[in-house]
Amino acid sequence: MKTKIAKARFPFIKTLEGFDFNFQPGLNQKEMSRLGSLEFIENKENVLFLGPPGVGKTHLAVALGIKACMAKYRVAFILAQKLLEELTLSLKEGNLTARLLGYSRLDLLVIDELGYMPVNKEQANLLFQLISLCYERGSIILTSNYNFDDWGVIFSDQVVAAAIIDRLVHHARLFYINGASFRLKGKLKENRGSAEKRQADTKGGIGGQDQPGG
Ligand code: ADP
Ligand code: MG
Repeated sequence: MKTKIAKARFPFIKTLEGFDFNFQPGLNQKEMSRLGSLEFIENKENVLFLGPPGVGKTHLAVALGIKACMAKYRVAFILAQKLLEELTLSLKEGNLTARLLGYSRLDLLVIDELGYMPVNKEQANLLFQLISLCYERGSIILTSNYNFDDWGVIFSDQVVAAAIIDRLVHHARLFYINGASFRLKGKLKENRGSAEKRQADTKGGIGGQDQPGG
């Protein structure tokens, strides 16, 4: 199991249990637990997490990926940008087919952060080949900070973008997470915390004015 998790190359370890659903009330906890049963992998369905930064897309994708590793599935996690760079390199070096086949043998491929960088025509074609090959053969979890309506911004080629969306969405569970950023929540709390502390300090509370570094 440890080998599988290491091989998958997750950026961090996260769990569904560690996800605060109260913070993201738009997200159905039951539905997410159902995903955790990994039926979607058995059915070769995809899962798409779309929404702005910090809402937990990568967290959820990693958590599901780790569950899949624990269930002995073959899993890989990759940033969209890195995936596109790898595919472009394989094309140049003449081993694209082998690389695509490698990906298509996975039970679950997690593609994170599609949309942070624009996708040129050649990259779009390569991504299309990959998605087509994985289609109904394995599952993909994809995260993006753009809704499909805005994929025109990411892809310069609209026809390929539409074909990619078509295959991705055909057997897929879509989650639009439109809540607040968890990262920001932490910061706001920190700021409020230090503001409260400053107020307490000036009132001569615990850690008052004569404390060093107050
Ligand atoms: P995104 O991929 O949507 O930009 P991340 O999944 O990277 O966001 O989340 C940013 C950080 O906040 C991560 O450390 C993640 O674990 C944490 N986080 C986000 N949402 C939640 C949540 N609802 N409960 C607990 N931690 C969360
Ligand atoms: Mg992310």
